[in-house]
Amino acid sequence: MDAASPTAPADIRGQCACGAVHFSCSGSPLAMYNCHCLSCQHASGTGFVPVVVAASAGFRVEGPCREQAFAEKKTNHPLRGFCAQCGSQLYARSELLPGVVLVHAANLDDSDFFKPIADIWTLAARSWTHMDHGIPKVLLAPPILEKEGVVRI
Ligand SMILES: [Zn+2]
Ligand SMILES: [Zn+2]
Repeated sequence: MDAASPTAPADIRGQCACGAVHFSCSGSPLAMYNCHCLSCQHASGTGFVPVVVAASAGFRVEGPCREQAFAEKKTNHPLRGFCAQCGSQLYARSELLPGVVLVHAANLDDSDFFKPIADIWTLAARSWTHMDHGIPKVLLAPPILEKEGVVRI
């Protein structure tokens, strides 16, 4: 990692817009992506969501957090966690991928270390989304988010 990219802290912390929900992940991020899946698009109202993939074993949430299952396809992390008070989207996960959680990078207290290593789920990417051509494009889920039977098109 070069000097312009701070190292990820051992503990990552974040919160929702209103401050009622706080979350933390212990352990370094497993990966960082810009996710273009349809669930990330619809939940965020944007073209993609910058996500930090963290080990779910070290993931903790405090406050009025709710989870909603998205029925839509073109994702493999249809469960979305959000603040029941202000509605901020905080993370996504799948019951079929119990080991990891995808935390929204913009909700982190300090996200200066965030550096996506690939655009993922580009199959669902919008034509108007600007992507960094300097990083790889993954049509569906990258290996760390893949498990047989999980990917739904
Ligand atoms: Zn909130
Ligand atoms: Zn996604």
